[in-house]
Amino acid sequence: MTNLWDASAAEDFAARPLDAAVQADLAVVGGGYTGLSAALHAAEAGARVVLLEAGRIGAGGSGRNVGLVNAGLWLPPEDVAAALGPEEGAALNAALAAGPAEVFGLIERHGIACEPVRAGTLHCAHAPGAMADLRRRHAQAAAAGAPVALLDAAEAQARTGSPAVHGALHDARAGTIQPLAYARGLARAAQGAGAHLHEDSQVTETEYENGVWRLRTGQGGAVTARRLLMATNAYHRAPRGTDLPRTATLHFFQLATAPLPPGELAGVLPGGEGAWDTGTVMTSFRRDAAGRVILGGMGRPEGLARTFHHGWARRKLGQLFPSLAGVRFEHAWSGRIAVTGDHLPKVLRLGRGGLAVFGYSGRGIAPGTVLGRAAAEALVEDREAALPIAARDAYDDPAPRLRSAIYEAGALAWHGAAARLRR
Ligand SMILES: Cc1cc2nc3c(=O)[nH]c(=O)nc-3n(C[C@H](O)[C@H](O)[C@H](O)COP(=O)(O)OP(=O)(O)OC[C@H]3O[C@@H](n4cnc5c(N)ncnc54)[C@H](O)[C@@H]3O)c2cc1C
Repeated sequence: MTNLWDASAAEDFAARPLDAAVQADLAVVGGGYTGLSAALHAAEAGARVVLLEAGRIGAGGSGRNVGLVNAGLWLPPEDVAAALGPEEGAALNAALAAGPAEVFGLIERHGIACEPVRAGTLHCAHAPGAMADLRRRHAQAAAAGAPVALLDAAEAQARTGSPAVHGALHDARAGTIQPLAYARGLARAAQGAGAHLHEDSQVTETEYENGVWRLRTGQGGAVTARRLLMATNAYHRAPRGTDLPRTATLHFFQLATAPLPPGELAGVLPGGEGAWDTGTVMTSFRRDAAGRVILGGMGRPEGLARTFHHGWARRKLGQLFPSLAGVRFEHAWSGRIAVTGDHLPKVLRLGRGGLAVFGYSGRGIAPGTVLGRAAAEALVEDREAALPIAARDAYDDPAPRLRSAIYEAGALAWHGAAARLRR
């Protein structure tokens, strides 16, 4: 079974590998939202930009995610301010509150065919006790003037079409997209603005000397640039010369049905919102433009674990939407999420002429777009103040391997226990 986003993207994009020596003002490593947004905005500002992607555009998280374009981070705004201090916290919260508007604005400006639906998202209570967390999130967002609404169980069940939710927080700023098509559309826009993009061009070596970066690719390409942005996040393939910190990794998988007939689909998220729940082992569910239902869950569905995770998903679909019990999935795929110890993204200085941006902790569509643009401004204009979160010289993620193992063990235990309870 294949990645639905690959199979259904209306946007196409292809670029040839770099096989020559070129010069640029800004070299970008990584063809996901962060790198593409940076390339687009830097090229629009008149910079000579070269972007190098190891695989195809969107090969990382940007071509595999759920497509929920949410405002803010996974952490509620007050927790962000508590971690960063009031000034920096307020700057990051404000920049990311406007994130969905920036994403949907780019989609409109560049005519990106990525199934944009701006009907908001629903953060659903998986148990009655989870309403306390949603009430807290609602109060914080409402205090900042965000268009959010708290729904009781009956309202949430009507909005989702699921008897299994116990309430929800609706955020009207948010929406859904076809994530890979958005990445490809950004690539097309960046190319149109004059950026040079190269696929199948893995950077294997970086060197910084006398104010100049020299990059080499495995395919015989070379770039000399004044500035460098590493935008490789959870899919980082370390080049010699640039040592980025390792973060914990959380795996998340999705399964999608075939397009369902209107009668069968009518009761599923009739307003077109994207949804996820409050469970510690979280579940996501949404529709796509063709009428498929897409279900997601935490875990790495490989080997024996695949039986547990996919078995859980089949049962979960029927539990969420009893009329869909037994409906088969046609697509299955998964991806890696870089989760930092404090769930905040990081901007790291690479010497004097470079930045690395990573660690979106599961909330990277709007934040990647926003921080990619801000990193381009910081690098091209030599203006770090453009960043809504301070750049730092070092970052040490706490026990990344152990935390990764705990995430996976937790997901496996949860999905496995759900199977045993059914027997
Ligand atoms: C399954 C899943 C579901 C998610 N759901 C959501 C969601 O609903 N909403 C949301 O906001 N966020 C979500 N996220 C998070 C979001 O997808 C990511 O945070 C975001 O895509 C990160 O973008 P990026 O550009 O920083 O990195 P990526 O998109 O991962 O791009 C990094 C790129 O760098 C390339 N690369 C690595 N090393 C090299 C090298 N040496 N040379 C050249 N290229 C290199 C990789 O091939 C890759 O294409 C989800 C993530 C996953 C995996």
